[in-house]
Amino acid sequence: MTPLSIYLPFNRECLGSFVPAKRTSAPGEPRGRWVIVQDQGLVVEAATLRVPEGGLPAGLDGRCGPSHFLGTLAGTPCWTAALPSEAELPAGLARETLVPMQGARLPDDLLSLGGMAMQALHWESTSGHCPRCGAPTERIPEEWGKRCPGCAYEHYPHLHPAVIVLVKDGDRCLLTRKAGWTPGRYGLVAGFVDNGESLESAVCREVKEEVGVDVTELRYVGSQNWPFPSQLMIGFVARYAGGELTVDREELEDARWFPCDALPSRPSRHSIAGFILDHYARE
Ligand SMILES: [Zn+2]
Repeated sequence: MTPLSIYLPFNRECLGSFVPAKRTSAPGEPRGRWVIVQDQGLVVEAATLRVPEGGLPAGLDGRCGPSHFLGTLAGTPCWTAALPSEAELPAGLARETLVPMQGARLPDDLLSLGGMAMQALHWESTSGHCPRCGAPTERIPEEWGKRCPGCAYEHYPHLHPAVIVLVKDGDRCLLTRKAGWTPGRYGLVAGFVDNGESLESAVCREVKEEVGVDVTELRYVGSQNWPFPSQLMIGFVARYAGGELTVDREELEDARWFPCDALPSRPSRHSIAGFILDHYARE
C-alpha cells in the first residue's frame, strides 16, 4: 500500500498534475505562475494568497535574481526567482511564510511549489563554482546539474537523508523536545544518516544517542521532502526494546514517555512528525 504521506505538503504529489522542468522544455518567454521567494517566504497576492500569474509582476522587474523554469502545473509554466531580503514589495503583494513551525497558512499546493522553488534557488546559489577546482560551473542542458568546464566534475542537487522515528512501548510514546521550541511542544527523535549507514542503523543510533534506549521492529511509514534547506525525511515507527531513558542534553531539552491518548502539543500537521503521530500513535 502506498503510504499516505506522499500527499504531505512539500511532496510533489501534493501538486497533482505537475511536470518537472527536466521532463518538459522551458517556454521561450518567462510567463506563467511566479513562485517568488524572499528569505523563507512566498510572494503572493495579498487579497487571495495566490501566486501572481502572467509576466513578472510590475515593481519586481530588475529587483529579483535570475528566473528559473520549475516545470508546468496543470499546463501552466511555473517560474521561480529570489527576491533579496531588503527589497520592499509593491502594493497588493505580501510575503507569506513557508515554514510550518512559523504558522504557515498557505494551502498545501503553494507550500509544495514554494518548497521546490526554495530548493531550486538554494541549489542555484550554492552550485555556481566547482567544489573540486573552484572554476565557475555551467548548467547541464535539461538538468539542474552543473558541470565544470575545467575539470569535468558534475554534481546534482543535494538532498540530505534524515530519519525520524516514533518510539512506542505498548500504550505510551517516547517524545522529545528541543530548546527554543514553543513551550509544551514535543516531537520525535530525528537525525541525519551518516556515511556508510543504513536507514535502520541510523534509526537505532539516533534513538540510542538522543534518549539512551534500544528499539526493534522498525517499520517504514512514509517520507517527506523538507526544503529547509534540502532534507529528505524518512519516517519510521519502532518498538521500545529496553534501556533506561537518558536525555542527551546537548541535543535535547527534554524527553519523556507520554500516554498515547494524552499527547502534548503536536508538531505541525504539515510535517511528517505530525503525520506519524496522527496515524500511528494510537493504532
Ligand atoms: Zn572543476
